[in-house]
Amino acid sequence: MRPVPPKSSSKPTGLDCRMAVLGADVRLTPHRREVFQVLAQSTDHPTAYDVFARVKDRSPNISLATVYNCLEHLTTSGAIKQVHVERSQSRYCANLHEHVHFHCDSCGQVSDALPTTDFNPAQFWKLPNGARITHTDVAVRGLCPDCAKKQSKSRR
Ligand SMILES: [Zn+2]
Ligand SMILES: [Zn+2]
Repeated sequence: MRPVPPKSSSKPTGLDCRMAVLGADVRLTPHRREVFQVLAQSTDHPTAYDVFARVKDRSPNISLATVYNCLEHLTTSGAIKQVHVERSQSRYCANLHEHVHFHCDSCGQVSDALPTTDFNPAQFWKLPNGARITHTDVAVRGLCPDCAKKQSKSRR
């Protein structure tokens, strides 16, 4: 186990905390930091293009290719999660808590679903003996509350 640095009084960002856990092998360029911060402030699971549109206000010189590179790097380093969407562009998530993604089949909205109780995936799922989880990618599909309401109305 890596030693966890002591909590300092200067408020670390979510990214700093995440990077401390992941280790020093993640190189943080200013662009990667910007991209992470934009993502951390978004709760709607934006696509790379959405992230590009939002980060441009803060870094006018950034290109879409750079945003793609930053997202790729942050994903492979484990700082963010890539959300796979069928027949559509991947979305990205910076929620650092254990959660799964709920996909609405009607409007395409992706929302975070946190566990209702203290949840340890290594204990919840019957994994092969000795397996070690590096990341989880669980998707739950259905209709979001708005779409479920609309559908029950149209059936009447
Ligand atoms: Zn998420
Ligand atoms: Zn919906």
